[in-house]
Amino acid sequence: MNIKETQAKSILRKQKKIDSWFISRYGMNLYRGCSHNCIYCDGRDEKYNVEGTFGKDIEIKINAIDLLRRELDPSRKRKPFNSGFFLVGGGVCDSYEPVEKKFKLTQRALELLEEFNHPIHMLTKSVLIERDIELIKSINQRSKAIVSMSFSSVDDKVSSIVESTVPPPSTRLKTLSKFKSEGITCGMFLMPVIPFLTDTPEQIEASVKAAKETGLDFIVFGGMTLKEGRQKDYFLKEIGKHFPDLVEKYKRLYQLGKWGEPASRYSEKIHRLFYEVARKYKIPIRIPANVFSDILSENDLVTVMLEQIDYYSKLRNENSPYGFAAYSVSKLDKPLSLIKNRLKNLKGVGNFTEKIILEILETGKSTYYDKLIYF
Ligand code: SF4
Repeated sequence: MNIKETQAKSILRKQKKIDSWFISRYGMNLYRGCSHNCIYCDGRDEKYNVEGTFGKDIEIKINAIDLLRRELDPSRKRKPFNSGFFLVGGGVCDSYEPVEKKFKLTQRALELLEEFNHPIHMLTKSVLIERDIELIKSINQRSKAIVSMSFSSVDDKVSSIVESTVPPPSTRLKTLSKFKSEGITCGMFLMPVIPFLTDTPEQIEASVKAAKETGLDFIVFGGMTLKEGRQKDYFLKEIGKHFPDLVEKYKRLYQLGKWGEPASRYSEKIHRLFYEVARKYKIPIRIPANVFSDILSENDLVTVMLEQIDYYSKLRNENSPYGFAAYSVSKLDKPLSLIKNRLKNLKGVGNFTEKIILEILETGKSTYYDKLIYF
């Protein structure tokens, strides 16, 4: 591994709107590059501009904590932070990749987030997160924490090939169980599910069952993208070493996708399968609103809940105006409660959606949402 210390210009990455997968408005990459080097990693794609050889060259943003302190300091801000969780993880690194043991940027960032009372959402594949369990517990008590780990399956054998340097899924589940027993919201990001390797009905059922048995609060599903260039080339090269017969199959499945997505027929089939299995185990497939209803602003709460309703409706093969409605709400520059009487002027909002929005504004909940998300 080659380590390079660099000076970053900024740390917090602000999103244009609330992210309904992670319930976040801000994210951060404290490192660049990831020595976990999972063979499917999307961070390898050229668009992220990670220099050098992905998996070997790791940048340490050595001034990250000074910058973050300044960026989090409310006295330096003209407008307060938007409501939502600060996502620590994902993107072009894993916040608990091996260099964290020495540089502790994630631990120090968490200390700052605790000091400034921000809710956090951690996403990692590394059990090094256990080192910070007391800190995360304390943040959870003050402002709330979510701990998520990503999995391509719960099959230790396949994992040892496609993500060989991270702890096996069985160990990651034990880590989640520890956080869960401390009263922290925990979830599984089952992504990427890898075609031909981790996508059989049995494997998907095993993952959902494991999430349920571990007591996780949600399981979020995602397929694998393979973008042309560095990501696809590396994946096919590595797959060729272990499963030479699959190379042509991947080439056929990943042909036309603008974003590196597989053929749409495959995606639809696999999402439907996941939905049916999750329904059988009655586990939410998005982070449920009771986790964040007291944290988000009313507009963001409505946006996320409508987007989640949209996701469920499409999986149920129903026509859905909810995505449009969510988008309209996300663009508003005033609180929804000020335009309660004019909700139907918003694109995508008809009688039923209006009813849902009004119920959320009045109670922070939605009967229709609960019916969908808890099956
Ligand atoms: S742990 Fe995440 S960021 Fe690191 S290589 Fe694997 S998929 Fe990429």
